Amino acid sequence: MNTMRAVVWEGPQRLRLATLPRPALLAPDDVLLRVTHASTCGTDLHIYRGAVPGFEPGTVIGHEFVGVVAAAGPAVKSLRPGLRAACADFIACGECESCAAGRHAQCAERRLFGFSGLQPRLDGGLAEYVRVPRADVALTPLADSADSRFGLLSGDVMPTALGALQRLALAPGERLAVVGAGPVGVLTSWLAARRGAEVLLLEANPARAARARSGGLAVAEIAVGQPLSDAAPGLAGMFDAAVDAVGGETGLKTALAALRPRGRLVGAGSQAGRFELDWGALMQREIALQFVIGDPIGLRGEVAAAMADCEPALDLMFSDRLRLDEVPDYFAALYRRERFKALVCVAEERT
Ligand SMILES: [Zn+2]
Ligand SMILES: [Zn+2]
Repeated sequence: MNTMRAVVWEGPQRLRLATLPRPALLAPDDVLLRVTHASTCGTDLHIYRGAVPGFEPGTVIGHEFVGVVAAAGPAVKSLRPGLRAACADFIACGECESCAAGRHAQCAERRLFGFSGLQPRLDGGLAEYVRVPRADVALTPLADSADSRFGLLSGDVMPTALGALQRLALAPGERLAVVGAGPVGVLTSWLAARRGAEVLLLEANPARAARARSGGLAVAEIAVGQPLSDAAPGLAGMFDAAVDAVGGETGLKTALAALRPRGRLVGAGSQAGRFELDWGALMQREIALQFVIGDPIGLRGEVAAAMADCEPALDLMFSDRLRLDEVPDYFAALYRRERFKALVCVAEERT
């Protein structure tokens, strides 16, 4: 039968394993990918709790997935059926000025997989099959020997971590604070430490702090919702650079408070709303503030080059191994921050 199982969003905190028609190729440059592995992500939690305006019930979620090409449109150049491939978490046109300059995250046609409402709906990869438009741009062939977990991280978490570090351009020995020991914070810290920075992770959740420590990372536990100067006075103003891997007001303000004068900050955690900052203080301290959206397409070469560095961290990056039908319940635990990140085994590599 031409059906598939997929995890769909039905409303706030309601996910369901649904049986849907298998997607068809709609454009000559589409690929139909048979998903073998997918992963959960903190970004999915905004969708899960119903925080995305206009998000359509029935949207298949999931933007981190790898698989095998099941069918390719006639205009697809780099992929053929049977080839293993990792997918970027978004699609881009590949032709505009932004794409030509390697800034695919700024393409006007950028659409995140597993997302709707703020963009035209693009069904995601927590499913047995996914249609990948602009396949030559979004998909990267994955060697048969490559760990699928590396392919999954290469779609979002790695380019976010690498993009943040690229913007900070840390000199050896510089002190970096990373706020939040979720997947992005942990991988950012891991890669920065390997590149010679002195890194401290700041985390409020004891289980997450312990998990990061078990991977050999230095972690300071901080109190939630308190200014850093009160929560951990010894850490305020101590760092040359900071990455906010939490987002929102708390994450950004904690990271700013960690910086010394002329410190530099990259916001990698998602920002959606509005809040006030003390701009006068930021100016007096000459703080540099930047944001990053992970660009798995623009940073494809950097991601591939960082594979060896990333390998020893793979066990640390995935806390659980699930089947597709276990995903809806897993999200409830992920939402309570009781879990970290799941490797979802959707199908065998070869069938
Ligand atoms: Zn993600
Ligand atoms: Zn473009």
